[in-house]
Amino acid sequence: MQKRRIAILGSTGSIGTQALDVVRRHKDLFDVRLLSANNSVELLAAQAREFDAANVVICNESRYSELKSLLQGCEANVFAGVQSLCDLAASADVDMVLGAMVGFSGLRPTLAALEAGKIVALANKETLVAAGSVVMRTMRKNNACILPVDSEHSAIFQCLLGAQGNALVKVHLTASGGPFRTWSREKIASAKASAALKHPNWDMGAKVTIDSATMMNKGFELIEACHLFDLSPDMVNVVVHPESIVHSMVEFEDGAVIAQLGCPDMREPIALALNFPARLPVGNRKLDFAQLGSLHFEAPDPQRFPNLELAKAAFRRGGNIPCVLNAANEVAVKAYLNDEISFYGISDLLEHCLNGATFVAEPGLDDIFATHEETVRKAQELI
Ligand code: MG
Repeated sequence: MQKRRIAILGSTGSIGTQALDVVRRHKDLFDVRLLSANNSVELLAAQAREFDAANVVICNESRYSELKSLLQGCEANVFAGVQSLCDLAASADVDMVLGAMVGFSGLRPTLAALEAGKIVALANKETLVAAGSVVMRTMRKNNACILPVDSEHSAIFQCLLGAQGNALVKVHLTASGGPFRTWSREKIASAKASAALKHPNWDMGAKVTIDSATMMNKGFELIEACHLFDLSPDMVNVVVHPESIVHSMVEFEDGAVIAQLGCPDMREPIALALNFPARLPVGNRKLDFAQLGSLHFEAPDPQRFPNLELAKAAFRRGGNIPCVLNAANEVAVKAYLNDEISFYGISDLLEHCLNGATFVAEPGLDDIFATHEETVRKAQELI
């Protein structure tokens, strides 16, 4: 059997390393054509050696010589910069691209892969938040395909495999509620980033863990779901489910709800996307229902977690406004991680940027980049 030739963009991050763990368990199925990282040269070099990667890209060009010397005597071709990443992700010897970069930086390489008609396993939700219409249009125009890696969207996708052409009427998007789910607003207000980084269920990178604590992650996922499954925001119901066992659900006209369940482990949706449609064992824990006993569900609290409503409103305004939201959030999360702003300083900054944004109704790619850069600049000034 021919191995699937894969490119992993962002291989040293949380999703990237978990994807390589899947590959490690199934080396007979995958041929690693490309690995990339932003800055982590040591880990990237170690991965390139372990997986015999054909090509390796370090996005931060100033670290090229370091990577080159770490990979001395290794057969991998070494490149630097985002343009190389775009070219290699689009090259003919790649079947599938895993988009696991963090934030807006994933947009350009994701679009390059889609333009080349690749199957893109997409974990980088910010590309869909910032430029969902452009991304989906590019996918359709080039007969490319996006397979969701985000656990909720993988769940929805899996539930829809049994839909037999029946239209869904609602998606129930589950949220863990994050580490501050049971905290009072006062206590959350003074919470430092170190507390927010302790996620109860999921092992994730710093950016998405903070987004999860503010529930911006769920706001982004709502937007992501609307783009991926062609839904209006009214069709997406966010429900807090602290155990993170039900990964999401779809509801049909007759009231029937189909859910996808599993222990929280990102390797499961990653493996399904990488090897779709065949499932693979990934060494994760299996559900023991008797031991679980019960599962809980509750409504999200907009008073304590205002970002979810901000995201919904931004998506309803449409145009380049979700791009503003994403850019402002990237700056705000970084500032919160550096203890420069408070927890609710994140929402304040977002509101400021959203209120002051210049509206572009039907943004092209240039408008998206201009909006991102302008918002980042404004948000940094505000801090
Ligand atoms: Mg998720």
